[in-house]
Amino acid sequence: MTMDKNFPVTGFSSLAIHAGHEQDPNYAHLTPIYASSTYVFDDAEQGMRRFSGQEEGYIYSRWGNPTMAEAENKIAAMETFGLDFEVKGILHSSGMAAISTLLLATLKSGDKILSHFSLYGGTQEILNRILPSLGIEPIIVDLRDLSLAEETLKANPGIRMIYLETPANPTIQCVDIEELTLLGKKYGALVACDNTFATPYLQQPFRFGVDFVVHSTTKFLNGHGTIIGGIFLGKDIEFMKTQATKIHRLLGGNSNSFDAFLLVNGMKTLEVRMDRHCHNAMEVAGFLDGHEAVAKVNYNGLASHPDYFTASKQMRHPGAMMSIELKGGLKSGITMMNKLKLCTRTVSLGTCDTLLCHPASMTHAGVPKEQREKYGITDGLIRMSIGMENIQDILSDLDQALKQ
Ligand SMILES: *Cc1c(COP(=O)(O)O)cnc(C)c1O
Repeated sequence: MTMDKNFPVTGFSSLAIHAGHEQDPNYAHLTPIYASSTYVFDDAEQGMRRFSGQEEGYIYSRWGNPTMAEAENKIAAMETFGLDFEVKGILHSSGMAAISTLLLATLKSGDKILSHFSLYGGTQEILNRILPSLGIEPIIVDLRDLSLAEETLKANPGIRMIYLETPANPTIQCVDIEELTLLGKKYGALVACDNTFATPYLQQPFRFGVDFVVHSTTKFLNGHGTIIGGIFLGKDIEFMKTQATKIHRLLGGNSNSFDAFLLVNGMKTLEVRMDRHCHNAMEVAGFLDGHEAVAKVNYNGLASHPDYFTASKQMRHPGAMMSIELKGGLKSGITMMNKLKLCTRTVSLGTCDTLLCHPASMTHAGVPKEQREKYGITDGLIRMSIGMENIQDILSDLDQALKQ
């Protein structure tokens, strides 16, 4: 059933399950996978009304489709749960596609973009390789230092956007969304936040006043590792319907109905999944903190993490991502990866199973050691996405894998 506007739900899961759903014309319980490139018109006049925007309706699936619309509206509802305004989301084929649309719809030659040094690798490369050739200059500083952020904004009036990602790879650093958004407003910069690691259940950047939110829906939102997807959301509805929609349609980074279907159904269990992920993560962090083979645990739920207070201020629970530094360096990292019996050796995050990756021998093997270490990717760093298996089984596997 379509959600009744006169029945305001009080819990996040009710929204995650019901929001965005429209009654199917054929009374299918779930929104079908609309596998159709185009939509037909009753007559030429209707075609004209659809194209001119006088009449709402689908035209071409790069522009939108009912299965994709359900995912867009569900995520928009979750990102604004408890807030008194609405946002509009545009579903994309990947997180990178959503980020590309965001940047190309908002920035132009001569603009500058301010960001933190700990960012998703793909985002970092867009900032450093693609934007400069378009005349857009990235400025990367430690945004946990608010006075440095303000000095940088003061010295660079061309900063058009502050781009945040919190928590971020691989040291789970967090930046203060509220304080940085206030600075953005003071200096006339838009603020965007990548909310992938947290999901709207744990953190709602719009609550702190940001203009845009992006996600890789590939991760916890889908939750089952079955799709690649992304979304770009904005609170200026007019901007989203015009400029953002235009750029999205022209760049062609649209999603598809099959991925949207998997995403919609994955998201219904977001709250229960995240509660379990986070509970398990806290147990794993406590177990590894002080383990004889482990030099350091980077988890924002531990009071020893430098951004513990920032995380507790803006997140419901500390999340399910962490990294550890092994005392034995590169060799220990490789040995641990090879000894895993239950947890999965792979990149990415946010699936039911616990995922481990060793950046120095895998994702960042091609990056020179000094450069890697600047971003906290040391030889013995293991990144973990804690899954929903039985906690004793996760702990036993990690413990046996750490015995060198
Ligand atoms: C994975 C990821 C992305 C990129 O998303 P894709 O779906 O792989 O294109 C962007 N930001 C963060 C934080 C991510 O984890």
